[in-house]
Amino acid sequence: MSDPFLENARSFEGRPVGPPELGADPVNQPMIRHWCEAIGDDNPIYTDPEAAARSVHGGIVAPPVMLQAWVMRGIKPRPTSGGNARDELMAMLDAAAFTSVVATDCEQEYHRYLHPGDHLSMTSTIESISEEKRTALGAGHFVTTRSDYHDQRGELVGSMRFRILKFRPAQTRTQDRPRRPRPALTQDNAFFFEGARQGRLLIQRCASCGVLRHPPHAMCSRCRSFDWDTVEASGRAALYSFVVVHYPEVPAFDYPLVVGLVELEEGTRLVTDVVGVDPSDVCIGMPLELEMVAFDDELTLPQFHPVAS
Ligand SMILES: [Zn+2]
Repeated sequence: MSDPFLENARSFEGRPVGPPELGADPVNQPMIRHWCEAIGDDNPIYTDPEAAARSVHGGIVAPPVMLQAWVMRGIKPRPTSGGNARDELMAMLDAAAFTSVVATDCEQEYHRYLHPGDHLSMTSTIESISEEKRTALGAGHFVTTRSDYHDQRGELVGSMRFRILKFRPAQTRTQDRPRRPRPALTQDNAFFFEGARQGRLLIQRCASCGVLRHPPHAMCSRCRSFDWDTVEASGRAALYSFVVVHYPEVPAFDYPLVVGLVELEEGTRLVTDVVGVDPSDVCIGMPLELEMVAFDDELTLPQFHPVAS
């Protein structure tokens, strides 16, 4: 069965999004250090020249997941001259009432480690447009963009697939509120959500060296052990950083939505809703305490509210 709209949308498949984008700066130590501090990754091959020199890399390397950071535009707007295939496609979807957008997933492939001095450029192509899918957010089309990252010699060093859902927002129903999006469960993180269902905020702990880590992952970045257990957090915390989200509104959430980076007294940080406070009263460093909120039969999540003074 032919769908003229879909055929038209799919004529965008394979089209470059625009000309190659050159990173503003080569791969450099200050950006690597800032990133590692923000993420809490203290692997010395990223920041300690002597330790890095003794490693298999022979010198400082950039964390692979920084790939996209090396060509991000920052606050500089994209040049508007000439057509941009992605903008054209988005306008076409908007015109067909698929006006809302949510990022759904991102996959990256790394072909080699990046070293200070590497200078990346990125070329992006619209890879695919799905047929219309029904989702909890509303009916829409998944749009996948593939970006390839090349170094100054033209060598392909990494690729990224980024998928969004452009959807028709479902009607807001006060009686039947949409459920919160489900977390993507893995072998590494299932304990966290299972603990939450039992009312316990669990932190992953390396069974070998004892270091705590969050978000959960398979290997200890300090001692490289794959053995781990968990400890239960006290629930006492402080607000490390936050944003107030106004748009886009996802139906299961209340807006403005305060999303905090919350530092537990045990030392790990997690991203969570900050509730029970007017957004204009939120401030960095404010003491917080845990409340476990059961959103439905399957999903319980930690949230934090200010400590009553
Ligand atoms: Zn360890």
